[in-house]
Amino acid sequence: MSVPVDTATGPVPWVAMYHSVGDCSDDPYRITVTPERLDRHLTLLARWGLRGVSLAELLAARARGEGRDLAGLTFDDGYADFLTGALPVLRRHGCTATLFVLPGRLGGDNAWDPLGPRRPLLTADGVREAAARGVEIGSHGLTHVDLTRADDRALEAETADSRAALAELLGTDVAGFCYPYGTVDRRAVDAVRDAGYAYACAIDPGPLTGPHALPRVHVGQNDTAARLFLKHRLHRLRRRPVAGLR
Ligand SMILES: [Zn+2]
Repeated sequence: MSVPVDTATGPVPWVAMYHSVGDCSDDPYRITVTPERLDRHLTLLARWGLRGVSLAELLAARARGEGRDLAGLTFDDGYADFLTGALPVLRRHGCTATLFVLPGRLGGDNAWDPLGPRRPLLTADGVREAAARGVEIGSHGLTHVDLTRADDRALEAETADSRAALAELLGTDVAGFCYPYGTVDRRAVDAVRDAGYAYACAIDPGPLTGPHALPRVHVGQNDTAARLFLKHRLHRLRRRPVAGLR
């Protein structure tokens, strides 16, 4: 899949960041929303004239000078509940999404979190099933490492090797990367670009904001209509032109 990233200047698109979709009763890192809450969020987006789509679809539309009615939907880590919790809701709303997975931990769990419940990650078959059902698969690195603390060898493995592993798994090119923990520096951006990714997702906006450090808005279980609306509006007020995006 090739994702054209335009070189013109334009505002940063609105991209929501989710993780797990399921039971959020024991959720110390606040990474889980219930399927009912996701359903409510997508209903609100539709009310505001926005449809949630994968980053590949969003960026391709922007490159054509379109896509003002699109919002990006991303799901980090590749939790197994994506297939059962998120995908039915996405399909009901006619939405697509990007799922950022860890090819070094398929079938494992969130062992990088020091505390809290272990959440199972999708197996290789699960990732293939998501892709077959129209979900864009991107890389979240091999094993969930903070790239700003990785040595040169680890940096290459987490970026280039994870892309190669996913391409092998899926039989397609992999366009997107997502920085674990959202931590990003110039060296990490260069490694991601050199590995051949067309775009990458960060979290906070900053001096590196651009096609390889796209800011995203954390959306959680506590985001009711009013809070989500505020996040959407604040983003639009703060938005500014960024080279490489329309
Ligand atoms: Zn993560």
